[in-house]
Order: sequence, then C-alpha cells, then structure tokens
Amino acid sequence: MLCMILLSSCRHRKEPVLIKIGGETQGTYYAITYYHDDSTNLQPSVDSLLRRFDSTASTYKPNSIISRMNNNDPTVKADEMFSVIFQKAMEVSEKTAGAFDITVGPLVSAWGFGLVNRVKMNQHIVDSLMPLVGYHKVMLDNGKLIKTDPRIRIDYNAIAQGYAVDVVAGFLDSKGIQSYLIDIGGEVLARRTKPGGEKWSVAIEMPTKTADDPRKIQAVVMLQDMAISTSGSYRKFYEENGVRYSHTIDPSKGYPVKHTTLSVSVLAKDCITADAYATAFMVMGVDKGKEYLKKHPKLDVYFIYTAPDGSMNTYYTKGFRKHLRNDK
Ligand code: ADP
Ligand code: MG
Repeated sequence: MLCMILLSSCRHRKEPVLIKIGGETQGTYYAITYYHDDSTNLQPSVDSLLRRFDSTASTYKPNSIISRMNNNDPTVKADEMFSVIFQKAMEVSEKTAGAFDITVGPLVSAWGFGLVNRVKMNQHIVDSLMPLVGYHKVMLDNGKLIKTDPRIRIDYNAIAQGYAVDVVAGFLDSKGIQSYLIDIGGEVLARRTKPGGEKWSVAIEMPTKTADDPRKIQAVVMLQDMAISTSGSYRKFYEENGVRYSHTIDPSKGYPVKHTTLSVSVLAKDCITADAYATAFMVMGVDKGKEYLKKHPKLDVYFIYTAPDGSMNTYYTKGFRKHLRNDK
C-alpha cells in the first residue's frame, strides 16, 4: 500500500522547468533564473518586494526610512530590513577598520554621487565634512537612529543591492524554489545547482577604458550556495582636469579612492556580506587588500588592477581560484 502511494506521488510530480524573470530596481537591472515545477509568474511579487525594499533603504526616495532618518524625522522607526543592513554595516566597518563606513553620506553628496549636484570640492570643504563621518558616531537604539550630530547622513548604497539579493532569495525559498540564481546589478547569489548537478556560472567583467565600452569577460566563476559581489572604479566615476573620481570614498581621507585597483570581486555565503567587503576592498586597494587578506584568510577575493607598466593584472586568493572555470 505504502509502495503504491509513493509510486503514484512520484508519477504526479512534474519535472522542474527553467524560468527566467527580470526587471528594474535600484537604478539597475535584476535577473532571476530558477528551476521549478510551478511556472506561476512571480515577477509582480518580486517587483513589489523590491519596491518595499526601496521604501526602506533607498536614499533616492525622499520618504524612505533611510531618508527620513537622515532628515531627523522624529516619527520614523527602523524596520527589520533597515536593522539588518545597519548591523551588517557596523560589523564590516569594525572588521575593516572603517574602510567600509555608511556615514560617508555627506561626502558622497559633496563629491557629486548623490541626489544633489556636485560642489567645487577643496580641502576646506572636506575638512568641514569629516567631523560628520565615522561609524562610531551612529547607533541604532530601539529602532531609533542616534547620531552625535544631526547633520550626519547614512548611505546604504554600497550594501543595498547585495541585501536585496538576499531578500529575494528568502522570498524564493518561501515559494519552495530549490535552485536559483539571482543577479541585481552584478551582485549575485547562486542557490544549489542546476537540476543535473552543474554549478551556476557567473562572469566577472573585464574593466574597460571608458564607462560605455562593450562588456567583455575576464573570468568565469562556478558557484553553488555562494554569493559574489563586484565593486569597480571603471563605470561610476567622472573626470575633471584629467583626474578620475570614483564613487567609492575613502572615509579616512574624505576623498574618492585614487589607486590602481579597477575591480574587486568577493565571495561570501550571503550577498550582503560580499557586497560590503567588495566596497571595503575597493577602498583598501590591492596592496593593502593583500595585507588584510593575510590576516583574514577566510575571505576569498579577486582583484583586477593596473600594474606599474600600465598592463592589467589580477590577484586572487587560493580559495577564489577553486571557483574559477578552467583554472585549477
Ligand atoms: P559598485 O558595486 O557599483 O562599485 P559599491 O557597492 O562599491 O558600488 O557602492 C558604492 C556606493 O556606496 C557609492 O555610490 C556611495 O553611495 C557608497 N559609498 C562610497 N564609499 C563608501 C564607503 N567607503 N563605505 C560605504 N559606502 C560607501
Ligand atoms: Mg558594495
């Protein structure tokens, strides 16, 4: 009897089919690939989840929780997503001696990477903003953001895409989806393998000379239950008097980073962690990054940088190498 029930339930189970959905969020694209036996269109639910996410974490939405916190609205309270991002931000700031720091908000705006137009920057302006920067100057207490100065503004943009990936992953898990790849603007999480046991493959882009050059592949990474995030200096920047200003700010100096590192890809179990460290390594650059990795051997990182002779070079950890296709 038991045998018969098992057999019939087996016969009724449908084969998982490949489903792809995609759209726009956080000023970029999202693309989700998954295998499931139910082909109900999940796009409307994902879109509304991502809109809800923006209403918490987007500094581009004036009524988001983060914007209201920045504007010192006394009635605003952190929700679960706000708090998770805050805690991860503080953890990575602590572990990277402040290379990652969400209090860069006023600097990001002044350097022209926020909503308002860039001002003509000089050391005097940087000096006047530096007292507002420092992760020790903010804390979350019972859902309230406590600041040592009301002019402090926090910025989740280095970590929000990564966490949005994790939030979408939680949603797909809740739908019983076993095998998926989520990509939000290049921040990626791969869950399990494809039905045949093959790992998911994700490309690391080759840095380009100008922001609009066509995309080429630098390396292919094979992933299973792993997230990867890449931060780069070659797409979001502006040039003034021949100097390239990247949108990553060194919180210790108050200036956009200006070293030879072109991109950094970081592996982690969840995408929020990968995203935060990718930004932190972009601040450190390849030389300081290598030193840091000696002391933190659990992190797996792939740097692309310009060598002294002007050629493009790579440095990656042993653990990262294991994930590279055709590179054993
Ligand atoms: P990308 O992956 O596009 O290179 P990042 O994940 O590195 O981007 O995030 C860059 C954004 O994060 C900037 O536009 C700015 O809003 C914010 N940011 C810049 N510098 C820092 C920093 N040192 N720590 C935390 N956030 C930063
Ligand atoms: Mg980041």
